[in-house]
This record gives sequence, C-alpha cells and structure tokens, in this order.
Amino acid sequence: MNERRIDVGVLGATGMVGQQFVRQLAAHPWFNTAWLGASERSEGKTYAEAASWRLASPMPGDVERMRVDSCTPGRAPQLVFSALDASAAQEIEIAFARAGHTVVSNARSWRMDPLVPLLIPEINADHLSLLTEQRRTHGWRGAIVTNPNCSTVVLSMALAPLRTLGLQSVLVTTMQAVSGAGYPGVPSLDIMGNVIPGIAGEEEKMESETQKILGTATAAHPVVVSAHTNRVAVIDGHTEAVSVRLEQRPPIAAVIDAFRSFRGRPQELELPSAPPAPILYLDAFNRPQPRLDAERDGGMTITIGRARRCPVLDVKFVALGHNTIRGAAGAAVLNAELMLAGGLLQGD
Ligand code: NAP
Repeated sequence: MNERRIDVGVLGATGMVGQQFVRQLAAHPWFNTAWLGASERSEGKTYAEAASWRLASPMPGDVERMRVDSCTPGRAPQLVFSALDASAAQEIEIAFARAGHTVVSNARSWRMDPLVPLLIPEINADHLSLLTEQRRTHGWRGAIVTNPNCSTVVLSMALAPLRTLGLQSVLVTTMQAVSGAGYPGVPSLDIMGNVIPGIAGEEEKMESETQKILGTATAAHPVVVSAHTNRVAVIDGHTEAVSVRLEQRPPIAAVIDAFRSFRGRPQELELPSAPPAPILYLDAFNRPQPRLDAERDGGMTITIGRARRCPVLDVKFVALGHNTIRGAAGAAVLNAELMLAGGLLQGD
C-alpha cells in the first residue's frame, strides 16, 4: 500500500508488550520504529541496556543502539503505540493526544471512555467514527484509540460470530499466562506448582469491555458476561472455557459453522497483520492441550474447539489466544493499520 514506511514511536517500549511492538514493527511493511520511550529508569540508556529482552527471537539489530527517551511529547513521531503501565498511561497518553499525536494504546486507562474506540477491527471497525466527537469534546489535536484487555480479546473474538445466533449470556473461566502480568510480574513462589484463583480487576474488565466491543459505537451490547479469571504457570497464551446461552438454540454444527465462516472487516482491506481467517476451529482440540503456534500465523489467530452442548446454558467451547500479540501489541498494530488504510492517521 505505502511506498515508504511511516515513522512510529513506542511508549513503554522496554516492557513485555513493548518488546512485542519492537519485534512486530521491525519487519512491518508500513511502519518504521523511529522513537522509543520508557520510564526514568530507562531514559538515556540504549534499548539493549534498558530492556530485559524476554522474547525467543533476537532483539532487532536496528533498535539495539537506539536511545530510550522520556515519555514526553515533542520528539516522538505523530503515531505512537502505547505499552505503558496503566499507572502512567492515563496522564502520558492525554499529554500526547493533546500535543497532536495519535496514541494507539494497550493500557486500560481510556478503554471505557465513551468517546474512545475500544477496537477489534474484525468486530467493530465502525467505532472509529467516535474520533471526530472525541477530538471536539476533549479538545485534543490528536486522538486515543485502544485495544481490549488480553483476555477480553479472546472472548470477544469467540462471541462475535455468535451474535447472529441470539447471544444472550456468557460464563467464562480463564487460564491466563504469566506474561499477561508484565515483567517481572508474578513471583515464582506464587505461581510454580500453583493456580492463582483471581486476577485483580480482570473480571470486571472482561464483563464491561466485551459489552462495549460487541455493541454499536454509542450503545453497549446487552449480553451478560460473568467471568472467573485465574493465573496459571504458562508463559504465553490465555485459554478460556466458555458457556453461552443462544436465543435461537442452534445445533452445534451451526455454531461451528459460525466460527469457521467468521471473517470480519479487514479481509477486504488487506491489512498486513490480519490473519486470513481470524478464528481457527479445530475438531481435535483436546488431546493434548493445544499449544500456541505464533510462527504459524503471527500469533493473531484465535483457536477454538470442543464445541458441545452445555446442560446449564446452551453451548460450551474452549478458546485460546496469544495474550501479548493478539491480546496486546499485534492488536494495536492491526488497529493502526486499519486507521492508516482508512485515512484516519493525521499527516499520513
Ligand atoms: P511491563 O512489562 O510492566 O512494562 C511497562 C512499561 O511501562 C515499561 O516500558 C516501563 O518502563 C513503562 N513505565 C512504567 N512506568 C512508567 C512511567 N512512570 N513513565 C514512563 N514509562 C513507564 O507491562 P506490560 O505487560 O508490557 O503491559 C503494558 C501495558 O499493556 C499495561 O497497561 C498492561 O495492562 C497492558 N496489557 C498487557 C498485556 C500482557 O499480556 N502483558 C496484554 C494486554 C494489555 P521501564 O522499563 O523503564 O520501567
């Protein structure tokens, strides 16, 4: 699409999600990493000195010697991705939006603002229509667009195809990877040989964010979601056991067909990070526990299987997604691709 790549920056570039941004952007056909920001702890160091690199692939050579800047607007490019700790994101992201930057964020701070799109391009690309009113109301020259919490992305992607079958209510129990807690994250003595029952704030986020994503730009979807969240000793990948009530009480074959035929919006737009089919339905999902295969699909596919009758609600199944890719950096990069393709990035 673009003859030359546009410069982008990464706020919170040294953390778990920031590293995924750096990895993904290194080979991106539309975006070029030109600026990295993090906390005072990292400011002035080279990226190699500041980041405790946790990914299996090596640190991209062209960022190793880049100097990490403070997270203040001015020197950063117009488009910045944010992988900031939520405690810092609220104020820093506003400062960037006020200064004219488009902030494509992973942090929770702005997700539930009624004028901020909480975006999954395959589900609610039309929520970008909020940006005009966002700029007008907040008086920002730039903008903030968010992607959901990592467990919410997996759930919302699994529920979106079921809306046409009369989706009414949802029970979900998560088994979430330790990388979802950032680095250094969960203490080893808490997680080794253990399941931690409950992740602070996560259940509320899943219950409210899902309604916003599945709804229209101005009204939440009436689906009722009840979430149980658990941390398990897995490095990457959130697995979710889901039961749903569907008004139409369809046969299981119709549910599987809805998963398999779901495509969403970006297929028409040919976005580089969009997988050919956003959902992979596997008949044999139970032996052994399927592993994430980020090599196969770039980590952007949601895998679903074991669809069967639920004696309490109607249908139950299992869903799995990569939390730091589809649930974080990959989701944000896809959001920015959608905005660029739609002419919504200022100065592009
Ligand atoms: P992390 O590993 O703790 O990284 C946090 C980043 O924020 C680091 O780069 C850190 O810089 C920077 N930072 C912290 N305080 C700062 C401050 N006062 N000023 C400037 N920079 C500051 O966290 P993470 O797991 O990557 O998560 C990043 C964000 O994405 C969070 O908001 C999280 O909730 C969200 N998220 C995470 C996941 C996941 O699976 N991990 C999924 C979805 C969303 P230093 O290294 O210099 O301290």
